[in-house]
Amino acid sequence: MDYSVIPVPVLTVLDTLKNKGFRAHVVGGCVRDLLLGREPKDWDITTDAKPDQVLESFPDSFYENDFGTVGVKVEPFHKEGRPDREHDVIEVTTYRAESSYSDRRRPDQVSFVSNLTEDLSRRDFTMNAIALEVTEPASPSGASREIDIIDPFHGQEDIRQKMIRTVGNPEQRFGEDALRMMRAVRLYAELREPGTDTADNWVIDYPTVQAIRKHAQLLCHVSRERIRDEFSRIIVSGNPSEGVELLRTTGLLHDIIPELEDGVGIGQNLHHKYEIYEHNLLALRYCPSTKLDVRLASLLHDVGKPRTKRGEGYRSTFYNHDHVGARMTKDILRRLRYPVSIIERVTLLVDNHLFYYNVGEVTEASVRRLIKRVGLENMRDLMAVRIADRLGSGVPKAKPYKLRHLEYMIDKVSNDPVSVKMLAIGGSDLMNDLGIEPGPKLGAVLDVLLSEVIGDPSLNLRDSLLARAKSLSKEDIDTLRERAREVIEEKKEEDDRDIRSRHRVAK
Ligand code: ATP
Ligand code: MG
Repeated sequence: MDYSVIPVPVLTVLDTLKNKGFRAHVVGGCVRDLLLGREPKDWDITTDAKPDQVLESFPDSFYENDFGTVGVKVEPFHKEGRPDREHDVIEVTTYRAESSYSDRRRPDQVSFVSNLTEDLSRRDFTMNAIALEVTEPASPSGASREIDIIDPFHGQEDIRQKMIRTVGNPEQRFGEDALRMMRAVRLYAELREPGTDTADNWVIDYPTVQAIRKHAQLLCHVSRERIRDEFSRIIVSGNPSEGVELLRTTGLLHDIIPELEDGVGIGQNLHHKYEIYEHNLLALRYCPSTKLDVRLASLLHDVGKPRTKRGEGYRSTFYNHDHVGARMTKDILRRLRYPVSIIERVTLLVDNHLFYYNVGEVTEASVRRLIKRVGLENMRDLMAVRIADRLGSGVPKAKPYKLRHLEYMIDKVSNDPVSVKMLAIGGSDLMNDLGIEPGPKLGAVLDVLLSEVIGDPSLNLRDSLLARAKSLSKEDIDTLRERAREVIEEKKEEDDRDIRSRHRVAK
């Protein structure tokens, strides 16, 4: 390995520590990534300097966590051609020993050690337990630096063999920190090529995977946030479906999303070749988006099916599984402590994934109502979920023409009013011209106007809206609310009925 793979700011931190008489090595995930030819996500250094000595050595540094990791701020740097992947903090951690984990979440206390091998031995997987020693330049020009690889647990050999293996006894290591089981599956999903069962693909070492099966139930001791972070990485990885399937076969999924397991072995109807769980997994696999929320929605879009199944065989139905699934999705994501913004988007996508669209049959007004319900900004993602759904259903082939046509319709109606903001008159017109008081009634009048304009955008003219508002303003607020609700809800029901009747045996 040529030392030029190590960015200059990282070399500078190493040199600074060494000039003070400490030892310092590049370590962890970045070494693994370099050996794999991947761009490191972050740069970690391990040292025998104690945290306060590290802080003293770098004026611009701070404590990152309670375990003695110090963040050293450096000039921002990035790999050539990747300005989007900028680094400006290097994490420096003092050699640590494995200490006891009585709550199975985090070490009771951190104990420092003086020996690099001991520090490497507490790391999770052999490929994450490799250190680089960068020799100092013999001359100030820096010409003769060299890199030595320190690899006491044979991580390089495991990388060559594409093997994820714990450092030491897997049962003991998962007993200390159950999150490592999730990390094993995450690395598997990131490294394993999808759909190839050849010997030349990443696997988890047999005793390691057996230990996960045996200890899967320990995951309940791990904080939901840590589980969520690894789970999200599985979902956005290059091989999310095999990742989720491994979570299931090892028993880990049972602690994360048991609702998905309810679809195992549950058949569908004539629209589907696959069982429910399999179909959810394939939808995730074929999801055309790399965004976390769209992928989560693809995985969860039919999570409501097992609970709504009626009848058996080709004619079974799943009425309302979209709305039931949306409620379940909300509960699942809340439980995993996802931020509200993600929960809302995924729930919205699941709730609306059955939108009806057939070229020539669907009116512009119903496309406008769909946009009003979903939001123009979410339409592309909703279509991605739909593509995932179709590609994952196995029969019949995806119908890109229909979706291209829908895109065209969306473009066509996207300047039509679908929110009160887009009406040709606003609240101030109603106040100034008609003397309506600011307040709930004014909002109700605007809602009625909008509901009518969604049905027919040619009504969106200032004068006719003002005239209509004048007559509406004579009605009481409850009548107005009822009127707006009727138009929108009635139409929504009509759209829903469309969905149900076209898929007589509901999808
Ligand atoms: P990435 O940065 O791509 O997420 P990583 O392996 O660097 O992957 P980090 O969470 O940054 O993951 O951890 C840095 C290093 O710390 C790991 O490579 C590993 O050596 C060690 N490590 C992290 N988490 C654990 C753990 N739960 N148990 C033991 N060692 C761990
Ligand atoms: Mg890392």
